[in-house]
Amino acid sequence: MSDVISIADNLRRVQDRIAAAALAAGRRPEDVTLVAVSKTKPAEAVIAAIEAGQTTFGENRVQEAEAKFAQVRATHQATLHIIGGLQTNKARDAVRIADVIESLDRPKLADALAAAMEKENRRPKLLIEVNVGDEAQKAGVGRADADGFIGDCKGRFGAQLLGLMCVPPLDQDPRPHFEWLADRAAKHGLKTVSMGMSADFEVAIACGATWVRVGSAIFGHR
Ligand SMILES: *Cc1c(COP(=O)(O)O)cnc(C)c1O
Repeated sequence: MSDVISIADNLRRVQDRIAAAALAAGRRPEDVTLVAVSKTKPAEAVIAAIEAGQTTFGENRVQEAEAKFAQVRATHQATLHIIGGLQTNKARDAVRIADVIESLDRPKLADALAAAMEKENRRPKLLIEVNVGDEAQKAGVGRADADGFIGDCKGRFGAQLLGLMCVPPLDQDPRPHFEWLADRAAKHGLKTVSMGMSADFEVAIACGATWVRVGSAIFGHR
């Protein structure tokens, strides 16, 4: 019970901070969408958030999301974003359950998703993840290859491609990375910029984020 109450309270606080950050940046609060990241948390936590008014959730593992959201969707409506690095052999499962896949980052995955969408006759919206810090261990297309890959995906997926996503390096000031991503999206005429997590979503909003992905500030530590 106390968990349910704190999720509702935490959500309200995060929404207030989003609104304040948007207004401070001369933007409208309703132009920033909160994606509540429920990875590692149980279906009950998702349902508590839905009952507190949250509609959109992010999960980074397809298998975990599949089980959890089957349970959630038996009784509640939820919009699901896959936000983690995606293996091609998980593409079909991702297409089946996701409303948005935020982690398109390489031609082989674009091929696998296109084939899966044909088979499933389901077309989730897509974001391209950019590895803005060019970190070896991280998912995302490298900065140098981003323009080419974005152009290819626009040609292939058209309006299904909404925008760009990033997770900046943990040990650096995120601001220049956020600014770079927002600028790339604008140059390609893409309207959605998914960036900012619990530690830095206000900075991301100041830099033009239209979606923020917030987990621990809502659901507690993992
Ligand atoms: C876990 C995760 C988040 C949320 O992180 P918090 O620090 O808990 O807010 C956002 N984006 C991605 C890609 C994640 O994996």
